[in-house]
Amino acid sequence: MVQLAEISWSEANELLKKLDIAILPVGSTEQHGPHNPLGTDHLVAEALSKAVGDRTGVPVLPIIPVGISEHHRQFPGTLWVPHSVFRDYVKSVILSITTHGPRKILIINGHGGNEAALIEIAGELRREHNVFVAVLMAFPPTMVGEKSGHAGYGETSINLYFHKHLVKMERAVDTLQNEKLGPFTIKRLGSIGPAQFPWDTIDLSDSGVLGPAGELIVSTTASEDTGRALMEPFIEEVCKFVETLKKATLEDLLCKPHK
Ligand SMILES: [Zn+2]
Repeated sequence: MVQLAEISWSEANELLKKLDIAILPVGSTEQHGPHNPLGTDHLVAEALSKAVGDRTGVPVLPIIPVGISEHHRQFPGTLWVPHSVFRDYVKSVILSITTHGPRKILIINGHGGNEAALIEIAGELRREHNVFVAVLMAFPPTMVGEKSGHAGYGETSINLYFHKHLVKMERAVDTLQNEKLGPFTIKRLGSIGPAQFPWDTIDLSDSGVLGPAGELIVSTTASEDTGRALMEPFIEEVCKFVETLKKATLEDLLCKPHK
């Protein structure tokens, strides 16, 4: 696997001329409960990107580790940039790599809060710059039910699988989510009665382990084996996708001409 940050410009010159594809990992640095590393979302995106790069030979660009995480700001160590700064920065990074060759870019994103901005710039790059950008969440779609939740059973297990030494299981907690905002009952995330409000994590969770209002989110039973069972089939699936993207002709992926 080639990581762009580890090769010289003369090696990059040989490599990028013959390749039209690259992987860009993106994530966040934000609280993930009292037991998981602040870097969880970017460390997982990076680990998945490296595993996929290893198996497919597609070069991996340097991680963008800070994203749109202001809703976690009451928890120490959380970093964030505004939506506009994030989207313009990621778009500029992608435009810079296209000048050297690759015009098919797979963003592997570890943080849900980045998704809307990434789809927005993918649209602009496709419509205005003839660059094809696909956006993929670094966490598998099989993380449902008890495996869902921010810093819960699933995410903690994935951390144990990829970087066990960074997880402090003795600090893990199970957290019952708050469902009160003043006189209102929080229904879904950010929903009170018929209205929406701009929720912060701390509105629902004192520990930072976050899930649906009123539910108990469990992280204490997380295990490395669960993390492996979640990630290994997903890594295979992402590799298949990358192989297809590798073979695809750029023109077939770009916007159709006007009727
Ligand atoms: Zn996360």
